[in-house]
Amino acid sequence: MARVQLNNLEKIYGGGVKAVHGIDLDIEDGEFMVFVGPSGCAKSTTLRMVAGLEEITGGEVIIGQTRVNDLPPGKRSIAMVFQNYALYPHMKVRGNLAFGLKIAGKSKPEIETAIDDVARILEIEPLLDRLPKQLSGGQAQRVALGRALIKKPGVFLFDEPLSNLDAKLRASMRVRITDLHRRLKAEGLSSTVIYVTHDQTEAMTMGDRICVMQAGRIMQVATPKELYNHPANLFVAGFIGSPEMNLLEGHLDGSDFVIGAQRLTLGAEVQARLASRPADAVLGVRPQHLTIADDGLEARLTHAEFMGHEVYLHAALEGQKIVAVVGAAEYEALGRAEVIRLRPDTQHLHVFDKTDGRNVSLRGGSATA
Ligand code: ADP
Ligand code: MG
Repeated sequence: MARVQLNNLEKIYGGGVKAVHGIDLDIEDGEFMVFVGPSGCAKSTTLRMVAGLEEITGGEVIIGQTRVNDLPPGKRSIAMVFQNYALYPHMKVRGNLAFGLKIAGKSKPEIETAIDDVARILEIEPLLDRLPKQLSGGQAQRVALGRALIKKPGVFLFDEPLSNLDAKLRASMRVRITDLHRRLKAEGLSSTVIYVTHDQTEAMTMGDRICVMQAGRIMQVATPKELYNHPANLFVAGFIGSPEMNLLEGHLDGSDFVIGAQRLTLGAEVQARLASRPADAVLGVRPQHLTIADDGLEARLTHAEFMGHEVYLHAALEGQKIVAVVGAAEYEALGRAEVIRLRPDTQHLHVFDKTDGRNVSLRGGSATA
């Protein structure tokens, strides 16, 4: 059992910097949990408290059934992979993989079997007799993964392990890691993962659930689909999804959302979802949920980005920035138009309270922050 629980976890660094503000999180056995958020939001600090590399100021970390606050890293049943995977340069891949097991006093045959298993899983058999300097970035990262895997930990901790790789390699490593997680689970090995990244694409494609953080606090914990469709607040709405959700300031007036001199009639469906009617409101609509239509909101086109089968239209609506994703053919049809009309799909509108950032249009009110 490698369930991980964080109970009111706090970190205050020397000098009084409060980095983590009482985090509560329950990560299930075998779950792939991603911590995502901008640089400095305390992803690494939180992970390092789980690992035992950073002292816990308040609250507790429980791994399995054990409160581990006072246990050293080696006794926590964890293995960690960092961005800067430091392989021992003078040891071949085989030696790098064997190192931890040798220290732990395992027998030679045991070590050989473990190396064979890990090399097979990670497809690094042909690399076993190479030195780290003879490996590509992706190969070296696989060996670093192997070093973690060979310890058969209850919990894998990853801190931005792919940040140093180029975009193409990152995409293939994403698939490898999630695939590896699935296979370990299928083989009945407990393989809970906590994976830290600042990249929302990594978070969305890898996580069973995602914990979105900002300034040492949890903004929302949910599945990728739930975060995308029902962001609990403005922060999550703006952070998750690419291109970013449009957030237009305005106010509610009867059944209308008013933006400057323009009005958008909110359908009965959206109105039924409203938990409150904030005085200062923000309308959220994803670029993919805007279409060009004669009865749409008027916006002044500033520029267009051609992406292949779609085009990102950048425009100004009552002085506020708005982006729409349209098909290449739709874009062609605009000709040289400077003013365009954009109609939001009312099924996919969000209304936020500008004052506290809460999404007040969540069905069933599943807001968590
Ligand atoms: P992230 O991993 O999300 O980028 P970190 O956990 O590294 O964020 O940092 C969280 C906050 O704690 C930041 O404000 C950072 O400046 C601060 N911090 C990190 N390490 C230390 C340290 N050793 N001493 C003081 N403050 C630190
Ligand atoms: Mg970090």
